[in-house]
Amino acid sequence: MSKLDEILEYNKAFIENREYEKYITSKNPKKKLVILSCMDTRLTELLPKAMNLKNGDAKIIKNAGATVMQPFGSISRSIIVAIYEFLADEVIVVGHYGCGMCNLDTDNLLNKIENRGISKEVINTISNSGINLNKWLHGFDSVEESIKNSVEVIKNHPLIPEGVVVHGIAISPETGKIDVIVNGYEK
Ligand SMILES: [Zn+2]
Repeated sequence: MSKLDEILEYNKAFIENREYEKYITSKNPKKKLVILSCMDTRLTELLPKAMNLKNGDAKIIKNAGATVMQPFGSISRSIIVAIYEFLADEVIVVGHYGCGMCNLDTDNLLNKIENRGISKEVINTISNSGINLNKWLHGFDSVEESIKNSVEVIKNHPLIPEGVVVHGIAISPETGKIDVIVNGYEK
């Protein structure tokens, strides 16, 4: 059975058994929180459990590395929408130890891209159009530095209003233990 068929079969039973009922909530985050975290598979259930987040508590944004790469990219847009449209007033950047984006070997990644059939020509065309692929694909060298950097980008964003607090924490993908990297309440 294909993955999609498996999902559809499961979904049919999920709906029939009304298993969704215990998840019904509102789209405004009850805890007025925005979480930016990594797509790491170990965090899917662990992160909300370790932070006591239930359905409806927070807007959770995910990408590779929990990084805000540019002030006018999709992550910043999501945070701004969460603040203005869904009334969030605190943002927590949640990086994690052992992140796949830490010390990512971008040359190796570009080799993999070529080995999967993307031609050198395509890569050169992208590079010649002013996009530094190594820089774009590169994650970070230190999770703490990356968290601090993302917190700064959010805090200093020209569209983030006064009074929004931005924290940065690092979580263990094994135990869920949290270390505070930036306490947004401290001036
Ligand atoms: Zn990660």
